[in-house]
Amino acid sequence: MRKFLGIDIGGTNTKAVLIDENLEIISFGVGDTPASGGPQAEIAILSEMFDFLKIPVKDVDAVGIGIPGPVDNNGIVHNPPNLKHWGDVDIGKYFAEFFKYPRERIAVDNDVNFAAMSEYHIGNGKRANPMIMLTLGTGVGGSVLIDGLPLRGRDGFAGELGHIVIEPNGPRCGCGRKGCAEALISHHGIVKTAWKILRRDKGSIMWNMLEGDFRRMSPELIEKAANIGDPAANKILDITANYLGTLLADLINIFNPERIVIGGGISRWGDALLEPARKIAKRQALKNLAKSVKIVRAKFYQRAGAMGAAIYVKNNL
Ligand SMILES: [Zn+2]
Repeated sequence: MRKFLGIDIGGTNTKAVLIDENLEIISFGVGDTPASGGPQAEIAILSEMFDFLKIPVKDVDAVGIGIPGPVDNNGIVHNPPNLKHWGDVDIGKYFAEFFKYPRERIAVDNDVNFAAMSEYHIGNGKRANPMIMLTLGTGVGGSVLIDGLPLRGRDGFAGELGHIVIEPNGPRCGCGRKGCAEALISHHGIVKTAWKILRRDKGSIMWNMLEGDFRRMSPELIEKAANIGDPAANKILDITANYLGTLLADLINIFNPERIVIGGGISRWGDALLEPARKIAKRQALKNLAKSVKIVRAKFYQRAGAMGAAIYVKNNL
């Protein structure tokens, strides 16, 4: 039976999954992404992982590699922010040379595009067309699938949904603009909102929960406080849901999607965030477009990127 290898190189972890042509998992493993040493160090880690997992690279039919950053139409990675000292890299070429594997059977893409592929084929995307994937975590990532394939744009960089401005006077984003979704509904953005609210509410239970350690402020802590009924925490949730709802309404108006799948760590807030955001999105979007769209949570967290990479190469290489 044919076998396909999916690799997901994250800022902290590297995941690898081997699947067969029925999409059954043969093996799966996680290792550390090397903090230094660039792509060579990454390839060395992969080689160890494959030995340990008994993944025979030379017998694999195709390989997909997901990267947390921009990847162009030729598979060249462009300066991924979370992979220090990578710069512009043809990681597929490194892989091919090290493992003596044909470059043309390797596909390299942005990790959100691959995660979207997982949701589309075996997750909560249910082959919707178009399907939009939004990931809320350290940053805000996006992918737009048309007929099951990512909208690439001229160079391959399309789908930067995290840099849609939803608050023109909002905080500065890493890209230089003000009020991008990434500056407001990423982990960091939510924590920023939380401090703004908390400074004006000295009676909030969140002060006790922090126990004097201000680094503890996180979406998880806000959620806990909201569950107890803390008004400040609920206010933070409301503000965040409003931002998310606005972004979703924009996406609905632009793409007329059948489904929007929301993944990433912050989507684990689940319905506390999603239900109000859904309502706001449907209220704000144009009526004809709001009617039929489904906004759902992602099915996968851990394996989505690696699985999607394997599924993509199985279907397209
Ligand atoms: Zn931005």
